[in-house]
Formats: sequence, structure tokens, C-alpha cells
Amino acid sequence: MASSALGTCFRALGLAGRALTAIGLTAAGAAGHAADYSGPLFDAHLHYNEEAWNGKTGPHPISDVLARMQRNGVQAIMANSRPNDGTKALAAVIAERRTMGVTGAAGDITVVPFIRLYRNRIDYDNWFRDETIYAMVQDEFARGTAAGPYRGIGEFHLYDSANANGPVAKKLMQFAERNQLAVLAHVDDAAIDLLMAHAPKARLIWAHTGIGGASVARVDALLAKYPWLMGELSYRPGLTCDGGLLCPEWRALLLKYPTRFLIGSDTWINQRWQSYDELMQGYRRWLGALAPEVARQIGWDNGASLFLGGRR
Ligand SMILES: [Zn+2]
Repeated sequence: MASSALGTCFRALGLAGRALTAIGLTAAGAAGHAADYSGPLFDAHLHYNEEAWNGKTGPHPISDVLARMQRNGVQAIMANSRPNDGTKALAAVIAERRTMGVTGAAGDITVVPFIRLYRNRIDYDNWFRDETIYAMVQDEFARGTAAGPYRGIGEFHLYDSANANGPVAKKLMQFAERNQLAVLAHVDDAAIDLLMAHAPKARLIWAHTGIGGASVARVDALLAKYPWLMGELSYRPGLTCDGGLLCPEWRALLLKYPTRFLIGSDTWINQRWQSYDELMQGYRRWLGALAPEVARQIGWDNGASLFLGGRR
């Protein structure tokens, strides 16, 4: 009896042990594969450049790019293009569908248009001292788009941070500040200081939040120093680690400043349009491992409160 009871007891323990192991594995699995974020996305770095549409014969006509946004739950975009015609065409189609009451299609997507500084690739290296670009930006701003006024300028690039002190760079920062336009800037951390010195109250959105790999401590210090500075996270080196989840120090930074970050596709070449689904799924994955309210802030709310009056 006794030995049989003992045996039963051991068997029970064995079963319990296996059950606990199974639960333990399940819990670990759940932590490693939290459900992806399923809320709306605000794509805060989108280009609809000429080579995508190319006189309507390109590989990514408006219907194609809108379908990509839609199937990924992207409900608003900060759009700019080289030249600005791409943004204007996108804005016109969306505005038209909205006027016609088309929903469940492009009518559900809001365009936040930005003025691109580049008419062609040569302008990348010269815009900060080219007065004709300053004139072009003012012309565009006065005209606006079918979806409403422009809300920002950029994306612009500075490959040498000293050019942040170029005469046109300075004037554009001040123009943006005066007209409450946001600025999307692909620059290094040194240029952030220079640009902010021109226009301390400008809403500067740091494209890629330091694509050259500025340290997390440096990004932290800049966010603390400039309350209007936001970070957009495409291409940011060191952002994600195993399983596509945030690396620990980036996770800590995002949790420290949950209202200061945005996500973006950066469709600067057609290949980025081709991988648009994967890019958005990648964001949904790491957002899903954050607390739901933080995921929604970074995925949607921060962009919406900047540009849509917090709508949705
Ligand atoms: Zn870009």
C-alpha cells in the first residue's frame, strides 16, 4: 500500500512537473512572440518619388501604393516626393475619393503633405545655399495641395553637418518655425544642435534618429534638451535585436519618451515599396511587445496629435 501510494505520489509529481514545464515554455513563448500591434499606423516618412510613378507608367501607380498602405493598416502618411508632383497627385486622389464619400478605400487614408526641397538629385548637395530652392518652397507653400495646406518641409539631407549653417538652411528653418511647419531632417546629431539654434521652436523630426549611429545617450540628451524634437525610426542602427524586438537600450529610451517617436517606411527607392508589407509588419512586431498604450502612441497617436488634432 505504502509503496504503491508513494509511487502514485511520484507519478503525480512527475505529471505536475511536466505540466509546469509545459506552462513555463508557453509563458516564455508568449513573451517572445507577443501578439503584434494591431492598431492604426501613421507612416511618418513616406516618399512618392518620380521613379515610382514615372509619368503614370512606373511600377507603383497611386492605386498600388494606396493598396499597400491600406492592407497594412496605415491610416495616415507624412508624404513628400521628388519632385513635389508625386505628393500632389497622391493628395488629389485621396481628396477626390474622400469628397465622393469613398470609404474602406483610399478615402480612409489621410495625407499630411510636406514640401520636398529637391527637384532632382543634384539639389541634394546644394539646397542649403540655393536661393531658388527657398523661392520654390515659398511658392509651393502658397499653393498648397488638394488635401489641404502643406504641414512641413523635407525630407532634406545634410551629409556634412556644417552645411546646417548654410544661408538657405537657416532661412528654411526660420520659415518653418514662423509658419508652424514641421521639418523632416536626415542629419547627424551635430546638425540637430545647429538647426535648432536657427529656430528653437521649430518642430524638428529627426529622420532615422541618427542614421550614422549616434549613441542612445546622445539621442536621450538631445530629446531632453529640445522639447520640440521628435525621432523617426526607419533605418535606425541598433534599434532591433533578436526576433525583431527592440534592443534593451532602445526599449528603455522609447519608454522614457513615449510621446517623442514615430515610425516610417522611407520609400526612397522602389525596392522599399516592394518591401512595404515587411517593413510595416516589422514595426507591428516590436510595437506588440510594448504596453498597448505605448505601442499606440508610437504607432499612431504621436503623428495624429502632431498633424490630425489627435483624431482617431
Ligand atoms: Zn527619406
